Amino acid sequence: MPTLPRLVAFDLDDTLAPSKSALDPTMIDLLVKLLNVTEVCVISGGQFGQFQAQIINNLPGISAEALARLHLMPTCGTQYYRADAQGWAQVYAENLSDDQKATALEAVEQTARRLGYWENDTWGPILEDRGSQITFSALGQAAPVAAKIAWDPSGEKKNTLREAVQALLPDLEVRSGGSTSVDITRQGIDKAYGMKRLAELTGVDLDDMLFVGDRLDENGNDYPVKALGVECIAVEGWPDTAALLEDLIPRYVTV
Ligand SMILES: [Mg+2]
Repeated sequence: MPTLPRLVAFDLDDTLAPSKSALDPTMIDLLVKLLNVTEVCVISGGQFGQFQAQIINNLPGISAEALARLHLMPTCGTQYYRADAQGWAQVYAENLSDDQKATALEAVEQTARRLGYWENDTWGPILEDRGSQITFSALGQAAPVAAKIAWDPSGEKKNTLREAVQALLPDLEVRSGGSTSVDITRQGIDKAYGMKRLAELTGVDLDDMLFVGDRLDENGNDYPVKALGVECIAVEGWPDTAALLEDLIPRYVTV
């Protein structure tokens, strides 16, 4: 990082928190400190409800001024939320049509069944309509991390499913999401899309942003941000991100 970023954007699962879990108090503390000195965005394939459970509900006592610097982009930036005096407000949402949803749900279920990836014992529903995104979670939304790792340790199943479903849905975009999930959205919508929208909405140039994520590898859901040319730092879990912030935050204070 040659200069201090005007905006720091984070992936959520396995970057700020363990998958689908609340942020550790250490990370909450660092995030509040960062919000006191610069703009912060969190962008994830997850829904706004997950942002509430993992982040928002754990930000007690944060000043309105700091909270106004927090930009939330659920479902890969197809939705955008900001805080105001009344609470959290949705700025925009780009939803799939009913036809697109029906086609996507059918294609992903049939393909998963054909490949032998459709499990009977799961932690919640496998398929989820997130409005702007259809999500397939092999073991259900609430599956424990260990079970997800055991199901597809190399990511091969997820990538095979993604490619097969994409071939059936040429007009939609099919991406690998979390460790066992596949996300279907309108074409051209990924985290790079969300970051470009963020630049337009905030007036902060992409060159003045830093992105932190755990899946910046070519098959990862953070990779589009790297391909866009945004300065990126790869982490392997929230403790890496915490170490990065311990180093970064004091640099703002001494400027
Ligand atoms: Mg992640």
